[in-house]
Amino acid sequence: MIPPIASRFVAGEEPAEALDHVRQLNDRDVKAIVNLLGEHYDDREPAHADAVEYQELAEDIARSDLEACISVKPSQIGLDLGEDVFREELTEIVETAADHGVFVWIDMEDHTTTDATLDAFEDLAREHNGGVGVCVQANLKRTRDDVKRLADVPGKVRFVKGAYDEPDEIAYKGKETVNKEYEALLEYAFEHFEDGIAVGSHDPAMIDHAISLHEEHGTDFEIQMLMGVRDDAQYDLADEYEVWQYVPYGGRWKSYFYRRAMERKENLWFAVRAIIGR
Ligand code: FAD
Repeated sequence: MIPPIASRFVAGEEPAEALDHVRQLNDRDVKAIVNLLGEHYDDREPAHADAVEYQELAEDIARSDLEACISVKPSQIGLDLGEDVFREELTEIVETAADHGVFVWIDMEDHTTTDATLDAFEDLAREHNGGVGVCVQANLKRTRDDVKRLADVPGKVRFVKGAYDEPDEIAYKGKETVNKEYEALLEYAFEHFEDGIAVGSHDPAMIDHAISLHEEHGTDFEIQMLMGVRDDAQYDLADEYEVWQYVPYGGRWKSYFYRRAMERKENLWFAVRAIIGR
């Protein structure tokens, strides 16, 4: 059992707890992207075990008739062990999920993984004619070119600002610059993509920009936010737009919870208040 303090950001340790949370979201018209927490395995065994759990999760989602998909980290399913291992495990996940009609997102990690991640995405998306999505990061200078490459690949693309501290030579620094880049990427996507745009941001300015681009170009899009971050905004936006909540679960919740608690003063206060019981 995870402590109540962490349950704002993490759905539980077991898949059944995550699916219970998904059911509650679906009741409020929010769909779910379920993520089993884990990353950077240097052993095949945990990488394979997580890949198997994702396949079981896809079966459970289909069986329970939930509006949910899954999201996988490359280093969780073997990328640190080699691109071939990552590809093998990812292919198994995507094929099982496709058999059950469940969509698979591939999260994006730091810049050393970008090529391997995009190549795997493109091959699988073309092979399955969709059913797979990948994340791109506005803070990386290469992303404008990557997005051009992805424009005619079937599948979806999640646009985020980028969560990794990258070297100066390859990354934009400073909130303003990254925000401008994010907006420019959305502008390109709404103009050139037929659909499959996911706005992975809590930022009201980025979401408003996406809404006005949608109104201008008519291109469909979805909004994605993390569990425990602007939950009320998620429910409100779901009245009008397609909203997906990223729902992490699993035994490896501590470092994820720590990151969420530390990233904003309000979250840190929330954690402290929960500890002291006020
Ligand atoms: P920020 O730039 O952090 O904040 C901008 C504004 O948003 C704030 O001023 C505030 O108004 C509002 N806001 C932000 N957070 C809060 C909060 N906690 N409470 C209230 N208001 C808030 N990164 C990756 O590198 N790879 C991934 O695969 C990846 N997947 C993601 C999937 C999803 C669904 C989401 C939502 C994010 C993902 N990220 C990923 C993280 C992303 O890169 C950013 O680090 C993260 O989303 C913070 O940027 P932001 O756009 O949400 O807003």
